[in-house]
Amino acid sequence: MTSEFSQIFYDMRMTETGCQNCFSSGLQQIYEIQRVPVHSVILLETRQQALEYPTGDICLVCCPQCGFISNSSFVSGLQEYHGEYESTQSYSPTFDDFSRSLASKLIDRYDLRGKAIIEIGCGMGEFLTLLCELGHNRGIGFDPAYLRGRVKSRADVQFIKDFYSEKYAHYKTDFLICKMTLEHIADPAQFVKMIRRSLAGSPDAVIFFQVPDTTRILREVAFWDIYYEHCSYFTPGSLARLFRQNGFEILDLRREYADQYILIETQLRTGETEGPLALEDDLEAIQRDAAFFKEKIEFKLEIWRGFLSNCQQRNARAVLWGAGSKGVAFLTTLGVFDEIEFCVDINPHKHGAFIAGTGQEIVSPEFLCTYQPEVVIAMNPIYREEIGRSLAHLQIDAELLTVKDIPHD
Ligand SMILES: [Zn+2]
Repeated sequence: MTSEFSQIFYDMRMTETGCQNCFSSGLQQIYEIQRVPVHSVILLETRQQALEYPTGDICLVCCPQCGFISNSSFVSGLQEYHGEYESTQSYSPTFDDFSRSLASKLIDRYDLRGKAIIEIGCGMGEFLTLLCELGHNRGIGFDPAYLRGRVKSRADVQFIKDFYSEKYAHYKTDFLICKMTLEHIADPAQFVKMIRRSLAGSPDAVIFFQVPDTTRILREVAFWDIYYEHCSYFTPGSLARLFRQNGFEILDLRREYADQYILIETQLRTGETEGPLALEDDLEAIQRDAAFFKEKIEFKLEIWRGFLSNCQQRNARAVLWGAGSKGVAFLTTLGVFDEIEFCVDINPHKHGAFIAGTGQEIVSPEFLCTYQPEVVIAMNPIYREEIGRSLAHLQIDAELLTVKDIPHD
């Protein structure tokens, strides 16, 4: 995509379509970065392929009316979701504990026993299978990137390798899940309207969505959490407003996973509804947080660039731990090529592949025994303990940092 094209597209979005959450105009720009890989968790076989991977631009804009933040330069046709798309996190015990506890809570709260469950964007089907296993439910998972065989198959769980749409409305459901998917959708209001229409035959269904929380991204100036695949960025308030404006009532809204995720439970509105929850009242805070991000971002990038170039100058080998989207965004935003040679990941399906954009090779934790890094940068602070234990087990004496450890003040 040329920058001229993205500029035209950006102007068109700003003036003609406005906010994709509430359709207001007057969006305010927060952040801009050009030529980032259009996919960050795609497996690339050679360094050359990785370096030449297609790129797009990011221009984050914020809607003053509803607080929704989106990439106004996003062009959806640039992306393809298929079998080489590797986004599973389920090799981490920390993540598995969270999934298991969430599944149990949902089963208890909504009596999900012997029920019909649909999951939109089910990935490899880990969570849906877990819900069906624990509650003896029947599941249908939708995901164009689903791969058979990653999760042990069960007779009561079926997978459809497609995007969910109204053509599947004949599948009745008691519980509809959509985790870590809405942030990939450029027109969330249209998507939620489509779900409402699809639920015509299941009016009592409970709808559960989980998305990353942008409040934290803005407050931590977490540039590694902003990447091309995520074109839509929510806070608790903007997510709740999206559902309320489209005929849903909010049953519950909360943050989990060290405040990294927003979880919302909703249902089609049938009559009078209760007023907004305290967590929804965040419009002013979003404006403040967005201004803070805008003010601090350049300084934060400089600190990290300085740190990594200092490591290189003193021949201190640094590696990233976490070759997912955060790792890719960290490297491509900073423009790190030679300063870091390798990225570690515990997912064996990624080993030997290369990072889109900057070309680092993805290696196993065991590789570090020969490489002997002096600095390990954990891309997600929630895995710090887990990574520390792995390093100790491998007898690697390296300084363990997380992306949060370097202050932005
Ligand atoms: Zn809006």
